[in-house]
Amino acid sequence: MKSLFQVLILITGLLLSMTATAEPKFPRQEPMGGKTFGHSVKNLGDGLYVFRWWVYRNIFLVTDEGVIVTDPMNPKAAELLRNEIRKVTDKPIKYVVYSHNHHDHISGGQIFKKEGAKFIGHKNVLKELADHPSPLTPMPDITFDDTYTLTLGGRKLELSYFGPNHGESLVVMRLPKEKVLFIVDIVTPRRVAFRAMPDFWPDEWIRSLKEIEQLDFDYVISGHGPEDQPAIDLASVVSEQRVYLEDLMVAVKSAMDSGSHSPDALRQTVKLPKYKNWQYYNEWLPMNIERIWAYYHMGW
Ligand SMILES: [Zn+2]
Repeated sequence: MKSLFQVLILITGLLLSMTATAEPKFPRQEPMGGKTFGHSVKNLGDGLYVFRWWVYRNIFLVTDEGVIVTDPMNPKAAELLRNEIRKVTDKPIKYVVYSHNHHDHISGGQIFKKEGAKFIGHKNVLKELADHPSPLTPMPDITFDDTYTLTLGGRKLELSYFGPNHGESLVVMRLPKEKVLFIVDIVTPRRVAFRAMPDFWPDEWIRSLKEIEQLDFDYVISGHGPEDQPAIDLASVVSEQRVYLEDLMVAVKSAMDSGSHSPDALRQTVKLPKYKNWQYYNEWLPMNIERIWAYYHMGW
């Protein structure tokens, strides 16, 4: 009996060690932390950091030859971000990568521009910022069409464009070695779509997410999330976001097909109880519904 017991212990130990090696390498269960209207930083290891300011997030990558920064957010957040970077390295900030054209994510870059950083964005950012200029938002120095691979200090950051979805310049960033995506606005884990979905095109959004799902990645860092949400999530959050949008569109369409055409009535009657635990389900679902009503009613 004793030997059987020992064998069982051995097998259990072996199984546990197998489970341990299969464990994700990033601290997914740990929330970002910090105060709601404050900022916080999470060191994911190997030079990769997540910076949070209120519900906004970006990533920065510290390499042997300098630092790559993404979305500076606004002047106040950018200054906090630079102070946090200076706590971990004195290497120069070489690049600032814009995720898309919206000022709420990409204002405040002058602080890095003054230090000599080059700005990178999709080529459509040039037109969008020319149409809606802001003295707080420097123009990109380097632009691209479909893809661009940024290399610094032996590290790579791949930028990919999937066409219109949220504006017409949204870039998904991928760290190929770490298999991490940084996605802004089109994936926010466990949250319904933002309010009335400003500048979101529902069908193109779903198409883009399907294409993004084909990339090689295991993890997602999202451009939004409060302090109680983790810094990093599993890849499945991309398909969860897509399925939410599909469920939303089907629910609104079938209500309209059965004769309900008033957006006010649809806001009251369409429910998606599967998502009742997602952030802002009660507050924003009616606004999501009205946006999808407009899509089917107006073709927009
Ligand atoms: Zn946006």
